Order: sequence, then C-alpha cells, then structure tokens
Amino acid sequence: MMPQHQPMLYCRHCGATPAAAVDIRAHRGFILFMQFLRMSGPFCRDCGLATYRRMTVESVWLGWWGPMSMFINPLTMLFNLFAYNSIAKLAPPVPGMPGRPLDPGKPLFQRPAALGFLLPIAFVTLIFTAIALGSA
Ligand SMILES: [Zn+2]
Repeated sequence: MMPQHQPMLYCRHCGATPAAAVDIRAHRGFILFMQFLRMSGPFCRDCGLATYRRMTVESVWLGWWGPMSMFINPLTMLFNLFAYNSIAKLAPPVPGMPGRPLDPGKPLFQRPAALGFLLPIAFVTLIFTAIALGSA
C-alpha cells in the first residue's frame, strides 16, 4: 500500500501546524467608497481565531456606512463564518518557525466591540422613529 501523504499546512503567520487554508475578510463601507480587506491563510488555530475576531470587530464597526455595504457586510461576515468553522476545528497549534501563534484573545461576545452588531438595528429603529414622528 502507498503511504498516505497528508498535505501538511503551516501557518503563514507563525509557522505552526496544523493550519487551514482559508481567507478571512473585513469590509469597510462608507458613503462614498468601500474597502475590502483580506488576510490570506493558511492560519493555525490561534492566529486564525485572532484574525477572525479582529476582522469581524472591524466589519462590525466600519462595515455599515454605505448604501451597498449594508448588504455586503453581512455577506462578508457569513463568508468568515465558513473560515471560522475550518479554523475552530483544528488541533491546538504546534509552534514552528518563525514565531509564536497570536493570542486569540477573548471570544467576540465577551468584548465591548460586539455592541457594534447592534448598530444596524439601532439605525433602522432610528429611521422608523423619525418617520413615525414626522407623520405624527
Ligand atoms: Zn499561527
């Protein structure tokens, strides 16, 4: 029998293994322009979680402020969830060269930045309140 060749992936950021070949995205949407940010893997579990959380916090605060962005931003976050799934099921990283895995930090919903998820809801509520007040 042929020996099994598992393709061994190493984290692009710290060199640890195992790693998942995924991209993590962020979106910044403003009225006049938009920015699409992308960090390419492979990521080990810790660098992946750290990057996922950082990029999501970024999208949560800066991703809503343009007319197209209200649609693009949720898609960006949805896409990241797939990346997150591949990363979260990796085994703990075995450090390699050149560095140590990033500190994944606190889960998103234990951070004050998660309040940004409420922004679109607050925005819609504000608009409806304005309409209601205007027609009263
Ligand atoms: Zn890493």
